[in-house]
Amino acid sequence: KSWRTTGATLEIQLVPFGANQKLLISRDISQMEKLETMRRDFIANVSHELRTPLTVVGGFLETLTDMEGAVPESTRGYFAMMQEQTGRMRRLIEDLLTLSQLENSPEAPQDSEIDLSTLLNMLLHEGISLSQGKHDISLAPVEPGLFIKGATEELHSALGNLVSNAVRYTPAGGTIKLRLFLRGTDVLFSVQDTGIGIEQQHIDRLTERFYRVDRSRSRETGGTGLGLSIVKHILTRHQGHLEIESEAGKGSTFTVVLPQSRLIRKPVTQPTAAA
Ligand code: ADP
Repeated sequence: KSWRTTGATLEIQLVPFGANQKLLISRDISQMEKLETMRRDFIANVSHELRTPLTVVGGFLETLTDMEGAVPESTRGYFAMMQEQTGRMRRLIEDLLTLSQLENSPEAPQDSEIDLSTLLNMLLHEGISLSQGKHDISLAPVEPGLFIKGATEELHSALGNLVSNAVRYTPAGGTIKLRLFLRGTDVLFSVQDTGIGIEQQHIDRLTERFYRVDRSRSRETGGTGLGLSIVKHILTRHQGHLEIESEAGKGSTFTVVLPQSRLIRKPVTQPTAAA
């Protein structure tokens, strides 16, 4: 537990000591908190400052490429590379900004009621479009009338991240299955792939910023190394978490777990038959 007193934050811990005694440890974590805030602000400011010049460079590169005669055939390849790299930098900056916004607003997101059937069908189509026919992607039937309370954009982006990872880390010909189901007091959304899988020793660290099992593969497929970190933050804000099961060479299952207290069941209106 941590307590905030005027000007300082104390972390209090009660630990068993000896046979039937307890030890009270109090630690002043104000300095740590201050440094953490400085780190967050620094990242947010740097990302923000980099965004404008990068947009300008990207814009001019595009204009030059589109302008007839501006780029000689012999240097077209270089221009394509510059565009690709500015695109990568832009994605990285957007992800850094998203992450710092999430970190700076720990309070609960504004809840909307999200139709799960609509959301999951959207994710299925996004997956199919990313895969460009290289994978067999399916969605198990979703019970109609189920809604989840949450921030629409955030949850869409978290689940979409898992679908996009499945596509990126599954070689052509593989299978990707999306599924929504209930377990105990939770509602779960899983993305199962037959991709490259992950060795056990990496699994616990995947949601750390920039943690990547294979840096070059992540880069090749357009990754920033921040996706799962963003997913984790979004789920925590919704009182949920991420479960990861994987076997190297066989495939992975990433499961989003949210409390059923966020689930709403609405009566499904059947289309009435014409008289
Ligand atoms: P990245 O942008 O590198 O994909 P993420 O944060 O989304 O970053 O994922 C972190 C790392 O987790 C990836 O670099 C990859 O090594 C691993 N990973 C994520 N999803 C999968 C998956 N479906 N199959 C195998 N490895 C995965």
